[in-house]
Amino acid sequence: MGDYFPFLQITSSTNLESTLQVVGLLLAAYVLLLWLAVIVWVYRDISSRTKDLLARTCSVIWSILCPFLGLPIYFVLRPKRSLQDRYESSLTREAILADLSVDISCPDCGRLISDEWAFCPFCQTELRKKCRNSQCDSFMDFSWSACASCGTPVVSPMNI
Ligand SMILES: [Zn+2]
Ligand SMILES: [Zn+2]
Repeated sequence: MGDYFPFLQITSSTNLESTLQVVGLLLAAYVLLLWLAVIVWVYRDISSRTKDLLARTCSVIWSILCPFLGLPIYFVLRPKRSLQDRYESSLTREAILADLSVDISCPDCGRLISDEWAFCPFCQTELRKKCRNSQCDSFMDFSWSACASCGTPVVSPMNI
């Protein structure tokens, strides 16, 4: 058949060649685009995980040099938590600490009380004691060994 229509053979092989060329070009463009996307993604990802300039630069160079085979290694080596995660967990920790310092409960009845109260208004338990110095009259915690205002030491009941 080719002997009868030699021009057909030529045109079809030229067509195939040009089609392959186009497909090859498209593939190359796609791979190039993927490569760029990997670099951009790695840059964004590492920026959200660390402020360390060296780590950022190394990660981006790594993604430029071997964008596809290097990506699994990047996944293993990158910092586990993002800066946002760390910020949020530090906020949570601060909130917990703030809760601890604000929420004091009465040792007797367990109701919430203020650390400025000397007596529990619910069960009348003495929460703090007065300074021995009659001119000072400040309130002291039971755990203190001296007054925070005037420095008068607490005399333990054993020594009286
Ligand atoms: Zn109480
Ligand atoms: Zn005092």
